[in-house]
Amino acid sequence: MNGLMMNVPLSVTSIMEHAERVNGNVEIVSVTGDNPRHRYTYRDAFLRTRQLANGLAGWGLAQGDRIATLAWNDYRHFETYYAAACSGYVCHTINPRLFPEQVAYIINHAEDQYVFFDPDFLPLVESVAAECPGVKGWIILTNEAHMPGTSLPRVQCYETLVAAGDGVFEWPQLDENTACALCYTSGTTGNPKGVLYSHRSTMLHAYATMMPDAMGLSSRDVVLPIVPMFHVNAWGTPYSCPMAGAKLVFPGGKMGDGATLAALINEEGVTMSAGVPTVWLGLIAYLKSSGLRVDTLDRIIVGGAACPLSIMEDFDKYGVETRVGWGMTEMSPLGSVNSSPADRERYSDEEFAKVRLKAGRPIFGVEMKIVSDTGAEQPWDGVAFGSLKVRGPWICSSYFKLDSSDAHAEEGWFETGDVATIDAQGYMAITDRTKDVIKSGGEWISSIEVENVATDHPKVAEAAVIGHFHPKWSERPLLIVVRNADGQDLTAAEMLAWFDGKIAKWWTPEAVEFVDELPHTATGKLQKVTLRQMFKDYSFPG
Ligand code: AMP
Repeated sequence: MNGLMMNVPLSVTSIMEHAERVNGNVEIVSVTGDNPRHRYTYRDAFLRTRQLANGLAGWGLAQGDRIATLAWNDYRHFETYYAAACSGYVCHTINPRLFPEQVAYIINHAEDQYVFFDPDFLPLVESVAAECPGVKGWIILTNEAHMPGTSLPRVQCYETLVAAGDGVFEWPQLDENTACALCYTSGTTGNPKGVLYSHRSTMLHAYATMMPDAMGLSSRDVVLPIVPMFHVNAWGTPYSCPMAGAKLVFPGGKMGDGATLAALINEEGVTMSAGVPTVWLGLIAYLKSSGLRVDTLDRIIVGGAACPLSIMEDFDKYGVETRVGWGMTEMSPLGSVNSSPADRERYSDEEFAKVRLKAGRPIFGVEMKIVSDTGAEQPWDGVAFGSLKVRGPWICSSYFKLDSSDAHAEEGWFETGDVATIDAQGYMAITDRTKDVIKSGGEWISSIEVENVATDHPKVAEAAVIGHFHPKWSERPLLIVVRNADGQDLTAAEMLAWFDGKIAKWWTPEAVEFVDELPHTATGKLQKVTLRQMFKDYSFPG
């Protein structure tokens, strides 16, 4: 027998409609290229979203068509999220930090019809436009006064497009499983893979992230998403904040600037913020040098990479609670959060320092298990470790336009590529990775691509790249090289110079170490785990 309750679709449109009616006076503040402090309300935002939707409606798009963005966190990007998704199209956020070949690959793979971009990314767009023949138009996210000169074909000004649109728009009734957003991840080997979120998954994830032990959002919060809107939808904050009625403060392109972040926090009364470890190091350095405090800030979510204890201890001094968050693009992204345990007083300071470093407890809606190489489930004793698998309604069931992937080999579960322990209280800790990638400042570096360039060097017999702890960037690539018979005079400087112009500058290894041989399995595969173990006490020079 079914329950007798209404089957109302879970949609992003409903978030917008709720926020407009209930939280209409709540502010959205943005730093943009043309305004250091733009402010308006959710009511204003969603009126303009309807104007934009009217503009999009004239383009002849079909339901499910992709509209891409290359943009910082600000109100125009926010409007584009909603206008695209609620019209039944898909908002495809592209990471502008990828190098041009990857951006072109992603635009073409996603079959993006239109690309909305910040003027900052004009050089990038100009360099890829000719490779993207399917794009029907390029929309610059600014006003007429700030339109840059460009030779790009089919360019439009965002503000002109919005101004021409009527403020009345009938949003389509969408099935809750309709796709609403797309984000590619390079966190696996091979080409970047697309994760296609649905209205239902996006709304459920936003709901879950609001819970007290996750981000704990309410209408009394002022939220500063430093994590970019092209990094898994800024961890859901553009959806959860309008749901909760929290004020949103967008830092634009200034997310790496400690002075701007401190000013936004203090002048806008920010209570909660979210970002990768590297941005917090920048803010802490600025606070220390300026003597400023961040007294309104109550808590921060640090995710995307392991959070060093020093960040937590520095924020302790400012009265800010640091919560480690763990997740993935494939998980919308939030999977676990480490909020202060209810029985904190039972832990000694030393024990607490260990517990708070863990990746936290699964949020309700995410199931986890750890399995051995043979697939045997491991106990939750905080000691046994295994490959971490997850399942839940905001976890991807397959990649966009990809029939199968190793990550989905076990029916109903997604293999994260992380290795973890889980203790009896449900605290999960990441101990290693099975995926062969490196994360520097929150961005992926493909070790395989770096290795391919290294082994092309005429004096190199074999090369391996591993991610190694770096105090500023969380991880940086360390290149380990076996010289060949003719290459015994190969130096580190010569090796590093070889990468110039062959890969993005920030992908170039931080340092090179030479060894006589690399560890291999019986079948000749490089043993990265052993290699990481061999270099665990290594420190990067300088
Ligand atoms: P992304 O898809 O770019 O969000 O990357 C997800 C991956 O980042 C995870 O699978 C982990 O390898 C890593 N990661 C995210 N959060 C954490 C964390 N709190 N501690 C350690 N690694 C993390």
